[in-house]
Amino acid sequence: MREEILTIYNNFSIDSLDLFFDELINYVKKYDSIFLKYTSLEYLDEMKKFKSKNLILGHSDDNLEIAIPFYTNKIKKGLNEEEMSKQVSSLIWDLSAYMTDEECPSCHDSNLRLTVATSNTNQIIKFCDECLYTGIADKHVDVKDDLIPAPKNLVKSYLKC
Ligand SMILES: [Zn+2]
Repeated sequence: MREEILTIYNNFSIDSLDLFFDELINYVKKYDSIFLKYTSLEYLDEMKKFKSKNLILGHSDDNLEIAIPFYTNKIKKGLNEEEMSKQVSSLIWDLSAYMTDEECPSCHDSNLRLTVATSNTNQIIKFCDECLYTGIADKHVDVKDDLIPAPKNLVKSYLKC
């Protein structure tokens, strides 16, 4: 598990995010029994279906060229399987949940990401990583389902509005 993720990180290139992303998803599929210990089955099942071609990747304020060496270092210094699986899950999220230019109206600490609830993948829900604010059309809403990154077609139609 450890050597494999280091190899994937080592092959990281900002110019081939699609490949990198799909390798991360294959890694999750391979070790799904370990990931399941630290995430819900519902979310894990969704994550295993993520595909680079259906998502807009790398649109956020995360600097991957700094983050990947940082994550690599952390693993080399010694992470347990829980820490590793959480690192990979959060990297997948950072890569694929489209970040808007819109500041979170609640905490003002982060920009909102475009997500959908697993029960309704046609409705954009704006989400804040920092305070977990969730909103639909600029109104706060409570969402019970797990949130997943909004698919590419939905993000594109949102950006056209
Ligand atoms: Zn917030």
